[in-house]
Amino acid sequence: QGYNLVREGVNKWRIPKLGKMRVDAVVYVNDALKSLLYEDQSLRQLVNAATLPGVVEPVIGMPDIHEGFGLPIGGVMAIDKHGVISAGAVGYDINCGVRLLRTDLEARDLSKEILYKLIERIEHYVPTGIGKKGKHKGITRRIFDDVVHNGVEAVIRAGFGSREELDYIEEGGRLAGADISAVSKEAQERGEEQLGTLGGGNHFIEIQRVDRILDKKLAEAFGLFEGQIAVMIHTGSRGFGHQIATDYTKILWEAAKKYGIDVPEKGLAAAPIDSKEGKSYYRAMAAAVNFAFSNRQIIMYDVVKAFEDVLKKPAESMGFKLVYDVAHNIAKWERHGGRDLLVHRKGATRALPAGHNQNPTSYMQTGHPALIPGSMGTGSYVVVGTDELAESFFSVNHGAGRRLSRTKAKSITKQEFEKAMGDVIYNAGSYKDIVDESPLAYKDVEEVVSVLVKRGATIPVARLVPLAVVKG
Ligand code: 5GP
Ligand code: MN
Ligand code: MN
Repeated sequence: QGYNLVREGVNKWRIPKLGKMRVDAVVYVNDALKSLLYEDQSLRQLVNAATLPGVVEPVIGMPDIHEGFGLPIGGVMAIDKHGVISAGAVGYDINCGVRLLRTDLEARDLSKEILYKLIERIEHYVPTGIGKKGKHKGITRRIFDDVVHNGVEAVIRAGFGSREELDYIEEGGRLAGADISAVSKEAQERGEEQLGTLGGGNHFIEIQRVDRILDKKLAEAFGLFEGQIAVMIHTGSRGFGHQIATDYTKILWEAAKKYGIDVPEKGLAAAPIDSKEGKSYYRAMAAAVNFAFSNRQIIMYDVVKAFEDVLKKPAESMGFKLVYDVAHNIAKWERHGGRDLLVHRKGATRALPAGHNQNPTSYMQTGHPALIPGSMGTGSYVVVGTDELAESFFSVNHGAGRRLSRTKAKSITKQEFEKAMGDVIYNAGSYKDIVDESPLAYKDVEEVVSVLVKRGATIPVARLVPLAVVKG
């Protein structure tokens, strides 16, 4: 992987186009993170993406970049309307994303004992682990069609939350253009049962304490203060999105051959945006996007119920409010530099600056909060984008990013794991069940977040630390 990385200002590197590349690639990393680029295939994957038809300058690697299927995780690829759409550039967990809830509760008021009760109660309401069925499946089966076409509005109509919350979700909780007829029966069956479930692995519900306010004005606008209890929810479209991604990776691979598109690897299987297959994937993907926003909405509702049960207070008196919900695996139409582009973000989060007209009204003056989870033992961040982000299609990193593969992380010892977790409470019976999610398996979130901060591309607003985590 002897790519020629040319330094271009602070924490920015360019791979000038060569071979079949149609555009340059750009990576945002500092010197320490740059050395990790040579340990996996992420640069090659970025270079491959830069060869696809319609790709717009540049293809981007975020500070948390690591190898994925097709496009690297932490990759952003914008395509013009004459180009292609790729399922692998969205990812298997379509609209995996993060949602943050604020409260009026203070961490000092929640004892260890209460935290234990809270995660127990959260697990009582929210099924965790791979392949679990939702507890609301009676309702969710009935409204399933409405959910996939109309998104969060549909679950709110069914009683999960209130309409004001729509303004606090990317896209208002609904990506237009969804069509269930583009989705296989198999995917539909998996989806109907799994709405309202967390899933396995890296997905989590975390009770956090706001550890530090880094921008007073913005924190105030987001309802955040030091010492406060917040809840972060990370999950996506479960088996529904996974099945859609699996189905369409095959369909788009065949389509690429049919339309004579030179696809460098299976993970980048792609078809023209306006082809039958391309349109069909978009419709199915949008269905999964709507499913995932709705999934996080139902889980939020259940989490609030758990707090009500344990603390024996109504939600209103605890000040629960949705701060924001962001997608980090998605492709959607956005306007950039006067052009309509299909922006594929895979392990990347949109972050619109203050005044950008696509902000929700509630955050027009500030820019919307972008949520960056770190790990269950370190920290997570709320940041806001600045105008500097225009060159990345207003995208930031979606996390700290993996440093060790799941297999490699299995060799972390019990002592190392416990030291990294400190006082944080977790739901797993044995450390072995979640050692591959150890904080040591991820890059240093402080360093990763600082990459764009130092470029003046993001403003850090708050640092949150975990108190108790429910892992999938
Ligand atoms: P992904 O969507 O790529 O699986 O994960 C997004 C990011 O979440 C990871 O890059 C990692 O930094 C972060 N993360 C993973 N597990 C946890 C967790 O349990 N708690 C928090 N706060 N962050 C996590
Ligand atoms: Mn996911
Ligand atoms: Mn995710």
